[in-house]
Amino acid sequence: MRDAVLLDAVCQKYKGNIHAHSFRSDGEYTVEQMIEAYRSKGYDFMCLSDHEIYFHSDAYDTETFIMLDGYEMACEMERNTTGQQYHLHGLLDRSLLAEKTFQHDEEHAKPDYESLDTIQQLIDEMRSKGNLVIMNHPEWSKNREEDLHKLEGYTAIEIYNHQSEIQEAVGYGVSYWEYVLKRGKQVNAIAADDAHGGRLIWWYPNFMEVG
Ligand SMILES: [Zn+2]
Ligand SMILES: [Zn+2]
Repeated sequence: MRDAVLLDAVCQKYKGNIHAHSFRSDGEYTVEQMIEAYRSKGYDFMCLSDHEIYFHSDAYDTETFIMLDGYEMACEMERNTTGQQYHLHGLLDRSLLAEKTFQHDEEHAKPDYESLDTIQQLIDEMRSKGNLVIMNHPEWSKNREEDLHKLEGYTAIEIYNHQSEIQEAVGYGVSYWEYVLKRGKQVNAIAADDAHGGRLIWWYPNFMEVG
C-alpha cells in the first residue's frame, strides 16, 4: 500500500498571512512597516485586511513578494450586551474577473444588523465585487454554528486567529468548521495571525523588529 501523500513535495509552497492590520485602521504600524516586518521574516505574500477600508494596490509588489487585496468588514449585533458580531474578510480573487471591484482606500460603512439576511447580503455584495469571503474568528465574535451553516457563499472559516488566542483565549474555530462540514457544507479553513502591532511585539519580541 502506498503511503498517503498529504503535501506534494515538488509543489511550490509559499509562506503568507492573509489577516493583519496597519495604521489605516487599528494597527499600530504603517503599511510600509508591516510589509517590511513580514518580508524580513521570509513571507512571500500578505494581506492588510484593515477594518472597513479596502486595500487594492500593486505598488508594494516585488519579484518575490506580493500584497493580496482585501479588507475586513464588521457587522455588530446587540453591541452593548453580548458583543456578538460578524467579521467578514473579503479577499480579492482576480481570477474571478469581476466587472467592478472595490478601489484602493475605499471606505465602507458597517451595515446595521437586522437579521441573518444582513450578513448574507454582505457576503453577496463582497462576492459580486470579486472577493472570496472568510468568516473571521467565529469564537471571538460569538457566532453560532447553526448561523454559519445557514449562510451561503463564503469560502472559508478562520479556524485559528492568533491575536484572539493570545489576548482572550478565543482564537480557535475548528468546532464551527466541523459543524458545517458534517452537514455537507463545502468550505475551506484558514489560519492567520491578525497582527495589530505593538502588543504582539511586547509578547513576542522576535516577531517584529520595526522601529
Ligand atoms: Zn476581526
Ligand atoms: Zn482583524
